[in-house]
Amino acid sequence: MKTYQGKSVFGGIAIGKIHVYKKDEKQVKREKVENPEEEIARYMKAKETAGGQLQQLYEKALKEVGEANAAIFEVHQMMLEDGGFQESVENIIRTQKVNAEYAVASAGDNFAQMFAAMEDEYMRARSADIKDISERLLKVLGNESAGGFLSSEPVIIVAKDLAPSETVQMDKDKVLSFVTALGSANSHTAILARTMGIPALVNVAAGMSGEDEKKEYGGLLSDELEGKLGVVDANAGILYVEPETELLKELEKKKQEDMEKKELLLTLKGRENVTLDGQKLMLYANIGNSKDLGLALQNDAGGIGLFRSEFIYLEKEDYPTEEEQFSIYKTVAETMAGKRVIIRTLDIGADKKCDYFNMEPEENPALGYRAIRICLDRPQIFKTQLRALFRASVYGKIAVMYPMITSVWEVRKIKEIVAEVCDELKEQGIDFSLPEQGIMIETPAAVMVSRELAKEVDFFSIGTNDLTQYTLAIDRQNPRLDAFYDPHHPAVLRMIEMVVDNAHKEGIWAGICGELGADTGLTRDFLAMGVDELSVSPGSILPIRKIVLETDVKEYRKEYRKMAES
Ligand code: PEP
Ligand code: MG
Repeated sequence: MKTYQGKSVFGGIAIGKIHVYKKDEKQVKREKVENPEEEIARYMKAKETAGGQLQQLYEKALKEVGEANAAIFEVHQMMLEDGGFQESVENIIRTQKVNAEYAVASAGDNFAQMFAAMEDEYMRARSADIKDISERLLKVLGNESAGGFLSSEPVIIVAKDLAPSETVQMDKDKVLSFVTALGSANSHTAILARTMGIPALVNVAAGMSGEDEKKEYGGLLSDELEGKLGVVDANAGILYVEPETELLKELEKKKQEDMEKKELLLTLKGRENVTLDGQKLMLYANIGNSKDLGLALQNDAGGIGLFRSEFIYLEKEDYPTEEEQFSIYKTVAETMAGKRVIIRTLDIGADKKCDYFNMEPEENPALGYRAIRICLDRPQIFKTQLRALFRASVYGKIAVMYPMITSVWEVRKIKEIVAEVCDELKEQGIDFSLPEQGIMIETPAAVMVSRELAKEVDFFSIGTNDLTQYTLAIDRQNPRLDAFYDPHHPAVLRMIEMVVDNAHKEGIWAGICGELGADTGLTRDFLAMGVDELSVSPGSILPIRKIVLETDVKEYRKEYRKMAES
């Protein structure tokens, strides 16, 4: 038996086979072939398809984001046509009698290394482009999308790290648990695990010595683990590989007990979220995908308080069209049958990266080009999303919320764009309705001007994940800083209270949709502050309801005041 200790991001126990997920190796197997010429023909066909895709991307980008940003696709086309690359692929196929996938991956690696070693900065940067091109070719050859992993049964995924774009593309029915060597508990991959309600561990490397790290994190990523029985006890933060019979029995029993506890909570379904002294709370679910709706409904969500719409973009290889988005938002609105569905507009950037956005590398991406800043800078992308949202709004109670606001002028600018979109839809005779408009309060600047902001919108939703990051000056992606990332810091809690007060003074409601909202140790404090709504991962709804039902807020407020003053 082997054990690994990590940081739990969502509790529970998972038992199943381990799958060691490796980004670079995922689809590329070296296979001997009988007829190399057939493989070369496959390669040529894939090259043609990839060239066509790049041309389409170029034309689309030219229209939407201008020539300078579109130029990258031209560069990719030129590199794809490069005789040297093609020669190398053909040569590998012919001399080694191997499949086209392997030849593309090998040529891609060789060329990327060659560029990376060049003196000239511009040429060095082409290394990433070569990787991009070979990945595109591999996808065409394999006829599958990036990030997917192939598994016929549910598995425990063990990986070095997982990007949100990879996690979101995994078939959720096939994932029992995640265990990653790196990764922060505050990253979006961790948040996705919580939304999916699966036990997960990150940062297994934290307690390891340099020697262990060199050996693929103490063997965590070695092929030896593939297919072995694993148990993730995310309550204790441990992954067991091939646990002994006695221990396995004990863990199976714990899993059973966990399930029984969950079932007990299900008896609270259908109850109103109201305290002993009559204070009501809206208890909504956070989702990243229309597939998460089942979990939201199963856990009796009163609505959707945060639909992270950027995951629609992360799942795709090109900008989702208005029709594609409309169909997703309509499904969510209809499924929630009149309950409020708050859809957050595109919050791309920082750890949520989409290749096709072609964003320049940044020194400080968390403080960089992201979220509403991109939308205001590239209004065409923003307008496409707003059109889809306003059209879908006819089919249910959609509300729209804008992320990363820092200033009143941004909200006014958004309103101008919203008005333009409404005018355009009206002119075109397209059915739509204007949803409620809210903003996320997730920067200290927004907190400080929240009274002014409250005059402009219908509601606030406090994003404590980013609010903690920006208030405490701690990169939420950096696992080394997890111990310093303290959302219970008085500065954060006082900010929440201030935002709620300012919202109420202007007659609007305020909720919390960051992960702190699910912290049951604070539920009574949030009630005492007058928080109107909590939006949490679906699995956290019923445990919070239990606390709400047992709380006398007037009584607790006395205790809370004393604590706040001390
Ligand atoms: C937040 O910052 O609290 C939030 C809900 O948004 P995200 O975690 O997606 O940045
Ligand atoms: Mg945020």
